[in-house]
Amino acid sequence: MLSNTEPRQQVALALGSNLGASRATLEAALAALDQSADVRLLARSSWYRSAPIGPVQPDYLNGCAVLEVGLAPEALLDLLQATEQRFGRVRAERWGPRSLDLDLIFYGQLLLRSERLQIPHPHMAERGFVLLPLAEIAPTWIDPHSGRSVRELAAALADPGGVERLAGAW
Ligand code: ATP
Ligand code: CA
Ligand code: CA
Repeated sequence: MLSNTEPRQQVALALGSNLGASRATLEAALAALDQSADVRLLARSSWYRSAPIGPVQPDYLNGCAVLEVGLAPEALLDLLQATEQRFGRVRAERWGPRSLDLDLIFYGQLLLRSERLQIPHPHMAERGFVLLPLAEIAPTWIDPHSGRSVRELAAALADPGGVERLAGAW
């Protein structure tokens, strides 16, 4: 739901889960975000299976979405973190398994480096599990950090291996 008062921005979001009923969690998180005040879901990718980074743990289910928001970056991060909590995320070791991870990839063309928030997401350009789904729904989005499009970044991935697009309906 979007109000008419706040300025609007398009943002790119990456979703991941490797604990519990991942597909159901990701679907429910997208629906919850779409129903949040000042957020509207514009586009969503297929789901992808990817090999984990960090400690030994189950494969991830990943995807991306484009949202229109009437929220400032920090307010959007608050909503993303509240949504992670709502879907059962427990903060444990870095890069460890989690029921829901919501990373803000782009906020329009904003460049931001604060303690709490880095936009664009600092590792997006090296992650196939972000770039392959994002290239489905936002291939021409220019990364304001590198000046390159998502399609170019995806094509330039050193090793997109370990990321498999899942067939079938959403
Ligand atoms: P990675 O960031 O490498 O994907 P992670 O997702 O496992 O790792 P988290 O534990 O989910 O990391 O988040 C750690 C902190 O990252 C958050 O508390 C948040 O303040 C910060 N952060 C900085 N930039 C972003 C961003 N663009 N999107 C989401 N969180 C961010
Ligand atoms: Ca992450
Ligand atoms: Ca995160």
